[in-house]
Amino acid sequence: MKNIPIMKPYFDEDEAKEAAAALASGWVAQGPRVAEFEKAVAAYEGNAYGVAVSSCTAALHLGMIALGFGSGDDVLVPSYTFVATANAVEYTGATAVPVEVDIRTYTIDVGWAEKFIQSRYAEKEGRWINRKSGNRLAGIIPVNEFGLCADIPAVNALAKRYGLKVFEDSACALGAKIGETHEGCFGNPSAVSFHPRKSITTGEGGMILTSDIELMEHVRKLRSQS
Ligand SMILES: *Cc1c(COP(=O)(O)O)cnc(C)c1O
Repeated sequence: MKNIPIMKPYFDEDEAKEAAAALASGWVAQGPRVAEFEKAVAAYEGNAYGVAVSSCTAALHLGMIALGFGSGDDVLVPSYTFVATANAVEYTGATAVPVEVDIRTYTIDVGWAEKFIQSRYAEKEGRWINRKSGNRLAGIIPVNEFGLCADIPAVNALAKRYGLKVFEDSACALGAKIGETHEGCFGNPSAVSFHPRKSITTGEGGMILTSDIELMEHVRKLRSQS
């Protein structure tokens, strides 16, 4: 039987040299090289700030806390994704609510999501309330899959109509773009992964990308305590 490895990271002498230099410098936790890496990734994607954390799951979790998701909130997530998307929602106390994906792209089906909202939620004083649970609809997490952006302009338009916060799960989509606009540059924060299964790797790792200074400062504070 032929085995196809799920990941095959590529390293050469350069990575070995840089790892040795980090060990020799004594900076084996947060330090100047992490700050340099944050700047480089943010600049490549077109964001003002990057906040590096231990995984994309941590990036999603801290970003969602900073966005204010919590108990009594419903957050829409695509039914086709890695489970970390939904888990991060649930870690905040909010409820992850799965919605369909478009089978041409495997990313969130915005038309389906809108019909779902209309059938399951009722408007009350400008908020959309789950008819069954009483939870309020608070956010939507489009997943940019396999280097492909979800239809983020359509997600943003939906979010505007229903008062939702948007956070892009871009774990597998570093460098994905629509036209010249990179993931995470449509006015929403995003989270990328550096797990060896993704575009580039640091071993384990993740990053929150944003141009919102308050969000950046909030996740920076949360990072140093979690
Ligand atoms: C891999 C992945 C994550 C989690 O990334 P980690 O860095 O392993 O925590 C989250 N969301 C999606 C869509 C992923 O593919």
